[in-house]
Amino acid sequence: MNIVVCLKQVPGTTEVKIDPQTNTLIRQGIENIINPFDTYAIEEGVRLKEKDGGKVTVITMGPSQAEAALRESISLGIDEAILLCDNAFRGADTWATAFTLSCAVKKLQQYDLIICGRQTIDGDTGQVGPELAEMLDIPFIAYVGQIEEIKDGYLRVRRMVEEGHEILETTLPAVITVAKEINVPRLPSLRGIMKSKSAKIDTWGIRELGVEESMVGLPGSSTQVIKIFFPQRVHQAEMLEGNPEKQVDTLIDRLKSAGLC
Ligand SMILES: Cc1cc2nc3c(=O)[nH]c(=O)nc-3n(C[C@H](O)[C@H](O)[C@H](O)COP(=O)(O)OP(=O)(O)OC[C@H]3O[C@@H](n4cnc5c(N)ncnc54)[C@H](O)[C@@H]3O)c2cc1C
Repeated sequence: MNIVVCLKQVPGTTEVKIDPQTNTLIRQGIENIINPFDTYAIEEGVRLKEKDGGKVTVITMGPSQAEAALRESISLGIDEAILLCDNAFRGADTWATAFTLSCAVKKLQQYDLIICGRQTIDGDTGQVGPELAEMLDIPFIAYVGQIEEIKDGYLRVRRMVEEGHEILETTLPAVITVAKEINVPRLPSLRGIMKSKSAKIDTWGIRELGVEESMVGLPGSSTQVIKIFFPQRVHQAEMLEGNPEKQVDTLIDRLKSAGLC
């Protein structure tokens, strides 16, 4: 079984600043982590390999510092890691991100199951998984809480829904996004940490993927961030004085003058 895990490196803090000129997050000087939802995707890929054999490849599209996230995934049991890194990928929206990932998956040629996190904690859209499936023209199942059975060309999963769960079957290859109910991610082993330090990480750009610049990054994005800002916090509380009767009279006056009663 050839399993591909997609992971994104995200800021490990909510104290991020925004560049008002470019409308992007200022990522310099911020500690980065593996998107927490993607740690469940890594764990599930590694568990499937340990049970049935095969290979797990992790792919991320990001800046060069995303290599640290790939090395960490190797310390958790991932076999191979690919960094999609090129100036041309900058400014990608979810569509261009999924397109670039789909080109990398196609270049791998052999893939049975692609596992993504359910969403990221920064972009937070949950769009990349389904878009990736669409671009690869293969089935997609979201919010998988348990893989019940997986064998040649067949997958049965328990998928989390608001009212409980559904059991779904599909053919492989397929893309799934996983919910945190699926497993408890392991900590890196000492052997894994040693392996991750010397592991070779392949870096692919537009040349290796064989794509036009116009298809990726900002030019390949069908959406554009016009403005990004923190909402203003406005405190406008007024404490009413006097005994309860006086407070009620004042409140009614205020409501009347606001046209609310
Ligand atoms: C209009 C627009 C412009 C943007 N411009 C920029 C920009 O200039 N610079 C910038 O850094 N970001 C930018 N972003 C954010 C960037 O496009 C998103 O972070 C990215 O597309 C992933 O979307 P998401 O974070 O919502 O992922 P989700 O759809 O929530 O992610 C779901 C899952 O998909 C997988 N996944 C997501 N992203 C990646 C990835 N990069 N590599 C591998 N797997 C992944 C993971 O498994 C993840 O758990 C922009 C977004 C938009 C909408």
